[in-house]
Amino acid sequence: MLDANAALIRLLIFGGGLLFFLACELMAPYRPATLSKPRRWAVNLGLTALNSLLLAALFGTAKLALAQHVTQHNLGLLNAHPLPYGLKLLIAVAFLDFMLYVWHLLNHEVPLLWRFHRVHHSDLNMDVSTATRFHIGELAVSALITLGLIYLIGADPLSVIVFEAGLGLCAQFQHSSLKVPAWLEGLWWTLLVPPSMHRIHHSVRIKERNSNYGTIFSLWDRALGTLVRHVDQAGIRIGVGGHFDSARLGLGRLLIMPFTRYVR
Ligand SMILES: [Zn+2]
Repeated sequence: MLDANAALIRLLIFGGGLLFFLACELMAPYRPATLSKPRRWAVNLGLTALNSLLLAALFGTAKLALAQHVTQHNLGLLNAHPLPYGLKLLIAVAFLDFMLYVWHLLNHEVPLLWRFHRVHHSDLNMDVSTATRFHIGELAVSALITLGLIYLIGADPLSVIVFEAGLGLCAQFQHSSLKVPAWLEGLWWTLLVPPSMHRIHHSVRIKERNSNYGTIFSLWDRALGTLVRHVDQAGIRIGVGGHFDSARLGLGRLLIMPFTRYVR
């Protein structure tokens, strides 16, 4: 039952977000695409589908099962003290998001991790489909770390569902090629990560790329000095300098990319 419900919730959030942000992109695109959208989407969604199958085979619903286990047995930091449930949920979500910030930063700073993470950054246009363009190696290690963190903090199943839903929708929004009204951008910047902030992170300029690591909250970048804000948005070139040929960025190439020539 847990398996079926979790898979359905995941699919509804992913599919709903994808269609919603795609519709928004088509109605109010931030900038015209320089590459064929159907071709890029075939690669990005092909990779997403493959990753989903492999993650389901490797981990199933391990995160939710573990969250259920730690809650039933009062394990983890949050279960050591009586706290209002809403506060527990907020702490669990913020903690998991902060650790994702740290993991993302390490993916840029550690050469071995960057080999995998550059698959995500190698997209030459950025839109909602970029949000799930990752190498399975990165996702599998990330899933293992998340399991350890759920155990450490003692996150319950609802916290894990809220975190993963928030993460998925925030990632889709910030990768979207969307013309966001200035008032919403300004409001979003104060707490969360709008597309303009994440667009800087996808710049070919390494100094700009090694900034703005946040996914849900912008607080971590602000507090730890990795926030870059004042960049000429129209001048941002998306991608990784060494991977400029779209003909060499098909699904097969992305799968072997971590094991090929190192490109900063
Ligand atoms: Zn990155």
